[in-house]
Amino acid sequence: MWNPWHGCHKISPGCRHCYVYREDAAFGTTVPASEVRKTASFGLPLRRDRKKNWKYPAGTEFALCFTSDFLIEEADQWRDEIWKIIRERRDCRFFFFTKRIGRLPELLPGDWGEGYDNVAVGCSVENQEMADLRLPVFLSLPVKHRIIVVAPMIGPVSLRPFLDDRVVSEVSVGGESGKYGRPLDFEWVIDIHRQCLAAGVPFCFHQTGSHLIKDGRMYDIPREYQHSQARKAGLNTIDHTKIK
Ligand code: SF4
Repeated sequence: MWNPWHGCHKISPGCRHCYVYREDAAFGTTVPASEVRKTASFGLPLRRDRKKNWKYPAGTEFALCFTSDFLIEEADQWRDEIWKIIRERRDCRFFFFTKRIGRLPELLPGDWGEGYDNVAVGCSVENQEMADLRLPVFLSLPVKHRIIVVAPMIGPVSLRPFLDDRVVSEVSVGGESGKYGRPLDFEWVIDIHRQCLAAGVPFCFHQTGSHLIKDGRMYDIPREYQHSQARKAGLNTIDHTKIK
């Protein structure tokens, strides 16, 4: 994980039980989660060891901004430095996901072109309304590795109009974690899995969330089993490591 800044503000229904707020509250952080601030990890990929070698070797995969949103407005002043670091570490891969995909065009670096080879972008959609709003924008943008992240999934979603295997690298689905997580109906997951199979787009069920409905029964899944239980469903057509 590489979190050059921390904190976020809520923008859509999927943010209601945001884990950034929850974890900050659990750890008694004095700065409110809604206050976006630079962290001590800002230059993480450029760290070197005593022998002046990269601390993070070639091939490292950085999951970027998992305690914020990479495209959040308050970080506009810092993002150019991050693009610079990403260019300097072309030997590594970077991945971020965002609920603010509409901001991406104005925030791309000048040499972005059709996208950096080493950057994957995930567009998060939690329900049909957000899918219909964000995905047409997402698909119109120049991105080399494009991931549709249906999480936290809080209702059934049809991705059919957006599943073009030439431009979508994968679809990843997950439920909502935390005590108040909204239930995920396994039928919704199966439905998206079917949609992906039909379109030839790789699919991953990355986590169940806290409350899973299966065969009409609600299961409470402890945090430590949410990823393994999702894997056990046997739906994945891609070995996914990016979304935790
Ligand atoms: S955009 Fe993501 S990080 Fe920001 S409040 Fe919403 S869920 Fe939390």
